[in-house]
Order: sequence, then C-alpha cells, then structure tokens
Amino acid sequence: MICEMCGKEMASLLPVRIEGTILSVCRDCARFGDNVKAGNKQQTTQPSVIQARLQNRERRMKTRDVYEGVEESIELAEDYSKRIKEAREKLGWKQEELAAKMNERESIIHKLESGGMHPDDALIKKVERTLDIKLKEKVLLTKTEKAPSGKALTLEDFIKKK
Ligand SMILES: [Zn+2]
Repeated sequence: MICEMCGKEMASLLPVRIEGTILSVCRDCARFGDNVKAGNKQQTTQPSVIQARLQNRERRMKTRDVYEGVEESIELAEDYSKRIKEAREKLGWKQEELAAKMNERESIIHKLESGGMHPDDALIKKVERTLDIKLKEKVLLTKTEKAPSGKALTLEDFIKKK
C-alpha cells in the first residue's frame, strides 16, 4: 500500500480527512489530517467533490468580477452621418451618385447623412466599402453596477439588478 500523501510504501495506512478529502496515508502523514473511521470513506468523498465544484464556481465568479467594470465593444460612431457626408463630398459625389454606386435609393443616403436612420450592419459595411471610410469604432463601456464590498455577484444579485 502506498501513502497518498508522501508516496511511501507502507504495510498499513490510516484514513484521514485532509482539507475535506479522505486520503489513505501513512502514520507520519496522518498527523496532517483528522482521523476518520475506515468505514466512512464512501460517504465522505462525495461532499468533497461538491465542495470542489463550489470552490471552482466561486473562483470563476471572482475572476469574472475583475473584468466586470469595463467592457469593450465595437459601436457605430456617433458622428457617422458627418463621416458619410464628408467622405462623399470629398469624392465630389452627389447623394444620387453615392446611392447609385451602393445600389440604394437616394432617400436612404439622405436619411443616413441627416442621422434620420440607424443603419444595420449590412448597410454600414456597404457605405464603408463604397466610400472607403470607417463608421464603427471601439468604445469602452463602463458599467456602474458593482458587487457590494468586494463580494462576488451571486445569481440572485444579478436578477435583482436587471
Ligand atoms: Zn505518508
């Protein structure tokens, strides 16, 4: 028999509880843990598995909490209308010409340049390609919700705040 702590070959081992796990260890190592009855082994290993899972979950939540404050996102630039208009004028195109090149109606271009519509991704890409400009930019979203006093947010907290 081999001691599960130090790996020494022993004639007999003692079951001890070390940090919630039952190990069969030699007499030297037994002093690191609490003695348990030999018959307990089956039942006592079970809770330690659950405990390990809980610890893992807690660790995951804490790690996530570190990144909770700031989030990066690609958003449509606030001045996208201006960007379109300026790029078009630089090329000397009329709204009508840009519409033709994009295979869109002139009214769409008018709406875009006046900020009268929020273009979807497909339309944004089309404009970007046609005018060779960028309409999207990286923004940092700072979240105001914070876990109370360094404690990780539980699912319950999350639901309450939403
Ligand atoms: Zn040992």
